[in-house]
This record gives sequence, C-alpha cells and structure tokens, in this order.
Amino acid sequence: MRIDLNSVEYSIGNFRLGPVTYSIQDGEILGIGGPNGSGKSTLLRIMLRLLRPTGGSISIDGVDIADMMPRDLSRKLAYLPQNLFSPLNLSVQDVLLASEYSMDRRSSKLDELIDRYDLGNLRHRDFNTLSGGEKRLVMLIGAINQGSGAILMDEPDTFLDVDKEMQVMHEITALRDSGRIVVIILHDLNKLASLCDNVLMLKSGKVMAFGSTKSVLVPDVLEKMYSASFKVEQIAGMSRIEAFPRIKD
Ligand code: ADP
Ligand code: MG
Repeated sequence: MRIDLNSVEYSIGNFRLGPVTYSIQDGEILGIGGPNGSGKSTLLRIMLRLLRPTGGSISIDGVDIADMMPRDLSRKLAYLPQNLFSPLNLSVQDVLLASEYSMDRRSSKLDELIDRYDLGNLRHRDFNTLSGGEKRLVMLIGAINQGSGAILMDEPDTFLDVDKEMQVMHEITALRDSGRIVVIILHDLNKLASLCDNVLMLKSGKVMAFGSTKSVLVPDVLEKMYSASFKVEQIAGMSRIEAFPRIKD
C-alpha cells in the first residue's frame, strides 16, 4: 500500500495548514512531531477524510480518498484518536467487535490480542468506566484487529504506564515489520527518534522538515522549532536528544 499527499492545505479560523506533500509506503513508520497547536491532529484527520482539505489531494494506491466508499476506506485506514470516549454505554467487548465492521467475517485475532494485553478481566466492563490507559489499549487492539493496511495514531502513549507503553511501542514495530504503514503523532522527541523511520515536523501549520529520522532530528531543525538548545548523541545506533534552556545572546 502507498499513501500520497499532494500539496494538502487546510484553513480553519486563523489557522493555515500546509502545503503538505509526502508519500508513505508499506513497512514504514512515519512520525509527526511539533509543538502544541502546530496542526498534527488536523493533518491526521485530513488523511482519514474526517476533514476535507481546502487544497490538494490524498490518494491511496493512486485512488483519491474523496472517491472511495467509507467501507473501502476503513479497510485501508484504522484510526486511534487522541480523545477516547464511547457515545453509547458499550462494553469493552462491544467496542472491540465494532472494529470488525468492515470485515467480511469475524477475526480470530481478537482473543489472542486480549490475552496478550491481559485485558480479559475488562471484557464486560462499560468502556467509559475504564482508565485513560485502559481505554487506549482497548482502542489500540481494535485498530490492530481491524486489519487495515495503515494505522494512524494520535499520541498513543498518553496515559499509559511505562510497561504498557513499552508493549505498545513493541506492537507498533511489529506492525511495521509485518508490512503495515504506521503514522504516529508523538510529542516526545526521543520516542520519535527511537521508533520512526521518517519524521515530519510541523510548526504553526508549516512543514519545517521531512525525511529520515536521523536527518530531521538534528539541533539545527529542532532549534528552529522550539525555543531551546539541543544536543543529539548517537547511542547504539539511535539518536538520544537532550534539550537545554536557550542562553540569550
Ligand atoms: P496539534 O495536534 O498539533 O496540537 P491541532 O491540529 O489540534 O494541533 O490544531 C491546530 C490548530 O488549529 C490550533 O491552533 C487550533 O487552535 C486550530 N483549530 C482546530 N480546530 C479549530 C476550529 N474548529 N476553529 C478554529 N481553530 C481551530
Ligand atoms: Mg493534537
């Protein structure tokens, strides 16, 4: 599978996003970073057709998403949103079964995923009574189970305990290795560095840098984005990023 964004633009109020152009292919993790309010969630929602771009287009395997049937789109893209709630009083089990609506028959993976994340005891709980971290794990399992070619995640590390977070990061790497596309918004620069193949950095709706993780997460780029100084070290082939207060000259 391949996703192409061609000069995508979006305007709401005083906020202008874009133009954004990039391509993502099978087996790739694309990280989206940048300060609060830079347009990360908006960009993801445009890719999911939840918002209509005011300019440019998005295609999946050469087909404009504007021309796709909703069910076909949900076979291609799964979404893990930043804010999780269930409008109905659905049980965890029902929320997870809803992730299968675009499939022709029930997946056999769901029970295995529930076991792997040790969520069996939550199966019959009302989804809305779960903790933030539990909700996120349930939605992640649903997104993985949906079997789509790409999974788009908005800060999936929010509210997770450190052990569950490691499990989620491991799961994301496994998704990539099984040939799926992962697009992930992450606040934390070190998480972007350790997880992503490519990184897109946004500031005030503008693309400040896009390319391989090592080429984007460098002091020059980061110092244009944040009012801090940065040191980037390579440790065991991975970038380790440290921020310092910027000394005024
Ligand atoms: P991020 O996810 O990077 O924190 P968002 O994509 O959520 O940023 O928001 C980008 C910008 O769009 C913000 O400045 C926000 O205030 C603005 N914005 C989002 N929705 C609306 C809206 N409905 N009306 C006006 N401005 C909006
Ligand atoms: Mg956001």
